[in-house]
Amino acid sequence: MADSPTPTCIRNPDVKYTQIFINNEWVNSVSGRTFPTMNPATSEKIIDVQEGDKADVNAAVAAAKAAFELNSPWRQMDASKRGLLLFRLADLVERDIAYIASLETLDNGKPFHSAVNDVLFSIKVFRYFAGWADKNHGKTIPVDGSYFCYTRHEPVGICGQIIPWNYPFVMLTWKIAPAVALGNVCVVKPAEQTPLTALYACSLIKEAGFPPGVVNMVPGYGPTAGAALSSHPDVNKVAFTGSTEVGQIIMQAAGASNLKRTTLELGGKSPNVIFQDADIDKAVEYAVNGAMSNMGQCCVAGSRTFVHEDIYDEFVRRCVEKVSKRTVGDPWEKNDNGPQIDEEQLKKVLSLIDKGKTEGAKLECGGGRIGDKGYFVQPTVFSNVQDHMTIAKEEIFGPVQSLFKFKTMEEVLRRANDTTYGLAAAVFTNDINTAMTFTQGVKAGSVWVNCYEVVNAQSPFGGFKMSGLGRELGEYGLQQYTEIKNVVVKIPVKNS
Ligand code: ADP
Repeated sequence: MADSPTPTCIRNPDVKYTQIFINNEWVNSVSGRTFPTMNPATSEKIIDVQEGDKADVNAAVAAAKAAFELNSPWRQMDASKRGLLLFRLADLVERDIAYIASLETLDNGKPFHSAVNDVLFSIKVFRYFAGWADKNHGKTIPVDGSYFCYTRHEPVGICGQIIPWNYPFVMLTWKIAPAVALGNVCVVKPAEQTPLTALYACSLIKEAGFPPGVVNMVPGYGPTAGAALSSHPDVNKVAFTGSTEVGQIIMQAAGASNLKRTTLELGGKSPNVIFQDADIDKAVEYAVNGAMSNMGQCCVAGSRTFVHEDIYDEFVRRCVEKVSKRTVGDPWEKNDNGPQIDEEQLKKVLSLIDKGKTEGAKLECGGGRIGDKGYFVQPTVFSNVQDHMTIAKEEIFGPVQSLFKFKTMEEVLRRANDTTYGLAAAVFTNDINTAMTFTQGVKAGSVWVNCYEVVNAQSPFGGFKMSGLGRELGEYGLQQYTEIKNVVVKIPVKNS
């Protein structure tokens, strides 16, 4: 895309697909029910979408199962051809980038320029995993005795994939790209708040030439459609991105039903630690963006910024200056922030901000709702935040920066790790020893040094502790979509 023009937004994109996608066909829900998807910028309904439930999940799983039968076109397809299909899919997404990003802005509320960046990232993810399709292979192993021993990397099978609303299109890509690259079949449940771009992706999956049943999609609610998927006895693996609370429910369902392989990408309360020798301009910039990007609706949000006491006051002043300049409003315009996703999240964010105030943190700027149409929140900064406060412990998922003060490495490492989460962390310093001490001591799946929220298709992403299980992206992400089969063949005689 380097030499392509920046896509232009389509303010009222036509919604083309609102049905359930099974076997490359669009169908209505068995129950006949629909649910509305809303525009977070206006609080108005965009359109009604077919509401899938257990019966629809059963039909989708049956289609996936048939596509995965031995000798099916999908099972017999060359691995390189699977890669080719993914490359084609990437090309189709690139062709339709303006439309997909516009649909994302309409359904999710994120500013159009952010939605474009999301789609660009998705294209990279498709191409990265397309390249892996014929490169993830087993080994021959020199075992004792007259045997020929080798491993096969086989697909796990039917993958149930449950997606959140904060990065609807990106999260779809992270789930389906490695799965189909390695020959699995998928039943996807997009988030009820944001089903539209995922449904459009299904039309591109069909256009790219994937056989029927390889990717199926059932829009619907979590406790119904999502639960049916995570407890289905024919589903071999469940991959989930969302809250830690729901992750625990899904893991229980996966265990109780049939011990599904499980990958979970859950919440975070990520520490971002600024030492006194850091480049302050850069640190402020990354710390503010790390807390505010995607309206703070980001599992790796830098929601605990620890600042060394020597530079604390100046750092607070500079963050407040920067955050106060952030523009909030119409996501079709060049604003930094759009609305929160829905009324429930708006209320949650505002109530946590209130907790911050009543528990004694100092509100430096923001702190309230903007307008009464759409779910806009003022970018907010709290200083003097103490570790015991609710805003220091709970994931806010809103545009709130919390600034803590620290003195020593030992102290800040202890405090940074004093959380049930372990998704991401960052350190800003110009001293290599400080950086290395921190990166080794902090318990987090991603650690950034002098930068924040740098996520790439090629490197793994996931959490320690209650932030998740397993990794997505990169070579490590492939392992979650492969079963290893060890094969031993008796041979008459062995030679080295
Ligand atoms: P959030 O709290 O950010 O809305 P959730 O974890 O509730 O995130 O939702 C993420 C995804 O999980 C959505 O697709 C949602 O429908 C789904 N989900 C919610 N509850 C369940 C459940 N009990 N079982 C399976 N999926 C669920």
